[in-house]
Amino acid sequence: MQAPLQGLMQHWPLLCTKVIDHAAIHHGRREVISRSVEGPIHRTDYASVRARALRLAKRLEREGIGAGDRVATMAWNTWRHLEAWYGIVGIGAIYHTLNPRLFPDQIAWIMNDAEDRLIFVDLTFLPILEKIAPSVPSLTKVVVLTDAAHMPETSLPGAVAYEAWLAEADEDFRWVDIDETAAAGLCYTSGTTGNPKGVLYSHRSNVLHSFIAIAPDAMNLSSMSRAMPVVPLFHANGWGIAFSCPMVGAAMVMPGPKMDGASIHELLSTERVTFTAAVPTVWLMLLDHLDRTGADLPDLKRVVIGGAACPRVVTKAFEERFGVEVVHAWGMTETSPLGTLNVQKPETADLKGEALLDHKQAQGQAPFGVEMRITDDENRDLPWDGQTFGRLKVRGPHVAAGYYGGKGTEVFDEEGWFDTGDVAHIDANGTMRITDRAKDVIKSGGEWISSIDLENLAVGHPDVAEAAVIGVAHPRWDERPLLVVVPKDGKAPTREALLAFLDGKIAKWWMPDDVAFVDELPHTATGKIQKLELRRQFKDYRLPTA
Ligand code: ADP
Repeated sequence: MQAPLQGLMQHWPLLCTKVIDHAAIHHGRREVISRSVEGPIHRTDYASVRARALRLAKRLEREGIGAGDRVATMAWNTWRHLEAWYGIVGIGAIYHTLNPRLFPDQIAWIMNDAEDRLIFVDLTFLPILEKIAPSVPSLTKVVVLTDAAHMPETSLPGAVAYEAWLAEADEDFRWVDIDETAAAGLCYTSGTTGNPKGVLYSHRSNVLHSFIAIAPDAMNLSSMSRAMPVVPLFHANGWGIAFSCPMVGAAMVMPGPKMDGASIHELLSTERVTFTAAVPTVWLMLLDHLDRTGADLPDLKRVVIGGAACPRVVTKAFEERFGVEVVHAWGMTETSPLGTLNVQKPETADLKGEALLDHKQAQGQAPFGVEMRITDDENRDLPWDGQTFGRLKVRGPHVAAGYYGGKGTEVFDEEGWFDTGDVAHIDANGTMRITDRAKDVIKSGGEWISSIDLENLAVGHPDVAEAAVIGVAHPRWDERPLLVVVPKDGKAPTREALLAFLDGKIAKWWMPDDVAFVDELPHTATGKIQKLELRRQFKDYRLPTA
């Protein structure tokens, strides 16, 4: 074949630092508001975030940190965490977000795997770090994200207060000139099966992901938006919001350490937030607060809900009571994380009432940049008929090509398809619906029962605060569903009432064999129900039908 004629356009590397440069130059005064860990609300803007990130970059270099080094952060969403990300990538180093709610041993394992050299840590998490730092030999420096006045006593050698440390450098610094394919961020999956695996984002993947995230059919962000990422920066690349907001100059409102309903509502209303994003648990807490106080959401226009299936009651409350558009989204740490978003297409634009709620249970469509397919176990494509479910596989420029350190390669095939471990069906419009995680699906007599569908229905009962469905061993059917319920405060629903509530809404053979009541469900650090732990708790449970 003849060599193709090359285009004559500039190679402008897609670097994360260009995002904050743009924000500072074109949206310099746009506010970045945070609830600080120390307590008060803190206000800054993109110009100063960039100026302090430049300082931070310079100060990191003086600390001996350089390109390719992993720099950990164990922190809430605040302006300091944001500055740290940009300063770190600005010298070609890699921000490595640590999930503070993992077990200390797991955090230490992850830090050792990543060989983190320096850590930015919030006051809240200092006690955890004190425990694990001695077992992380690569760690040579601890910077506590606070000022000298709030710096506590600590057993960590050489720990310094961020503000004093930062003040030792000025902002006369140029971002390092690196290739767009260089690594920028590192985030470990939660490791529900085996050890956690590191996903290594590049500058290019982050910038491309932001272009996709800001679009109308995704998060729909602009300089008119006032966006509150409730989803922590340490969860799945912070859903990319640390890049997509500055890219368009959207104001940012960051909730810091407080994510209870009252605190979230306070920021939503006083800061006139128009856009927000988080996992369903956060919204259940907010809606409960609104129920109890009768408060309203006058400014909020759009909420992206993902990370776990969004219960119908949540969608219904937001849309019908508060007039807030719910965008149900699916994604993973491995996908940066946006994979699909459920936004209206002409084919569904006329849906109303219950039909619209039905539709919104699905996780949505793939934006440009995400290719998806469903296959059987032999990698044969399955039809997009909205019924046949199979393994969900994706590929694209912001999907992982492998894991840090070359682990877990079996989930990536030679054509670039990443096997997500989720089970889904896709309809003729390309609307994807997750029916389960492959490991959570309940296998009853050779057929599959979706735990997600049952949970979504169960939380629709007025006395139920939270619900989970797991498969429990059954001599005849292999597994049968057990519904585990946390009742709302002061309520005592019965087994019979709950099963009657499900009756008629599901196929007869999907009916849980029993209901167990608990005070609380085990959650992962990102607010998802920990099915593995729950199955462990109920491993000796005997179903009445067994
Ligand atoms: P973790 O392993 O810590 O949960 P991720 O955030 O990467 O890490 O989780 C991704 C998984 O979360 C997906 O594979 C899927 O099972 C689940 N998930 C994400 N969004 C949704 C959603 N909207 N509905 C159902 N499941 C979801």
